[in-house]
Amino acid sequence: MTLPLDARQLADRFASVFGTAPDGVWQAPGRVNLIGEHTDYNEGFVLPFAIDRTARVAVRRRPDSEIRLLSTFGNQGLTTADAGSLERGTAKGWTKYPLGVVWALQQHGHPVPGLDLLLDSDVPRGAGLSSSHAIECAVISALNELTAAGLDDRDMVLATQRAENDFVGAPTGIMDQSASLRGAAGQALFLDCRDQSFRLVPFDAEAAGLVLLVIDTKVSHSHAGGGYASRRASCELGAEVLGVKALRDVGLNDLEEASGLLDPETFRRVRHVVTENDRVLQVVELLDGAGPAAIGPLLDASHASMRDDFEISCPELDLAVGAARAAGAVGARMTGGGFGGSAIALTPVAAEQQVRAAVERAFAGAGYVAPEIFSVRPAAGAMRLA
Ligand code: ADP
Ligand code: MG
Repeated sequence: MTLPLDARQLADRFASVFGTAPDGVWQAPGRVNLIGEHTDYNEGFVLPFAIDRTARVAVRRRPDSEIRLLSTFGNQGLTTADAGSLERGTAKGWTKYPLGVVWALQQHGHPVPGLDLLLDSDVPRGAGLSSSHAIECAVISALNELTAAGLDDRDMVLATQRAENDFVGAPTGIMDQSASLRGAAGQALFLDCRDQSFRLVPFDAEAAGLVLLVIDTKVSHSHAGGGYASRRASCELGAEVLGVKALRDVGLNDLEEASGLLDPETFRRVRHVVTENDRVLQVVELLDGAGPAAIGPLLDASHASMRDDFEISCPELDLAVGAARAAGAVGARMTGGGFGGSAIALTPVAAEQQVRAAVERAFAGAGYVAPEIFSVRPAAGAMRLA
């Protein structure tokens, strides 16, 4: 593994490529969703945290309207574009994300000049850790300062959502960028997706003798896939039949009646969302009180609900969760949109090696591609580094 470039190294690299020092260096993290899956677009609750894996950008304003983009990964070379004529659907690879942010700012009425930009990132991509939002949040933090756009957190959340939805074409909500922009060390972000109100909740796994392992199954997930769209459609149907604005408005006590009104599949989808919202609230209460070690059963219940009711797990995720639990994790669940990506396992530090080995053995035994397992900790949100 190549180590990420720190701010100085990135600035030096920038200078050697573009011939002059950057105006500054900004970073923004990926995120893990601790609990609250597919609740965001139902106007419900989520509890993500920013992780200690980040995207970093060195950026300089240009006097003209040319945009020049380079990353430290791959060997794509320099990508150029004109700030005055960005068009959806034309950008390729990772450049969609910075260009999408420039485009979204313009759509929101903030002129953006030409730029030179160098990106480095150690957020695993396509693993459900939101490597895309890490890039977008680093870029919007940079551009907010460099163009004196005066955006607050809320504006930046909406602008990056617009970049993802309308420029990149991914139907994502507000969770990922909220965590990336607002996260803090040792804390998770309790976010109400209805009104965007939020509160930091203590989640210092380390102090509790725990480590949060991410198990990347290497099964690629895709938001564009029909599974995500059909789950959203089921939720909309459920809300319509039950006569509520969003499933957020359905409580645990309403489920019995709902079972008589909905077809069995729609009912299971609804039950996942309703119980998941409740689990988020319970986890928040536990983190405020008993601490991280107490949330294990709720992580397990969340996984079972996604596997059986929402049906967005896959054999690799189920195996990762099962093997981690059997080897001593206090709780485990798939995280992210589903159909692949990563699982998380909250694990006593003393059992970490055991859990890693058990998951690796289970994957080898099943003939699956070897998973990648790494620990993450709740870390700071987006910031300027230099
Ligand atoms: P996620 O956000 O869950 O990681 P996405 O599909 O939304 O998955 O975004 C992944 C995309 O982001 C990749 O396809 C690539 O274009 C870009 N990307 C992010 N980080 C990197 C990186 N380190 N190297 C190359 N591409 C990256
Ligand atoms: Mg993404």
